[in-house]
Amino acid sequence: MRLSGGSPDVPCLTCGKRVFGLKWGTDCPECHAIRQARANRLAGRLALAGTALMGLYVWVRVPAEPVLGRIYGAIAVAATYILLRRIVSRIAMEYLPR
Ligand SMILES: [Zn+2]
Repeated sequence: MRLSGGSPDVPCLTCGKRVFGLKWGTDCPECHAIRQARANRLAGRLALAGTALMGLYVWVRVPAEPVLGRIYGAIAVAATYILLRRIVSRIAMEYLPR
């Protein structure tokens, strides 16, 4: 182990590989990318399931006659997918097991 005044080599939280300039308690770029891919995969699946439920709700509850209602419903379904994907991805990055 090298002691210096600058940023020392810090072990990755997941694989233990020492990386120069890494912050304590964080992953190296490779482990971060792997973790991000896992979180994105999970977020995509859960967001799709949530969006299907939202689409079903809009299909059942919003009357078809004023077309504008269905258009706003479709916008809400699309927004649900985007928001759910982002929220689940962020939570998964925090809580997925290492
Ligand atoms: Zn690593």
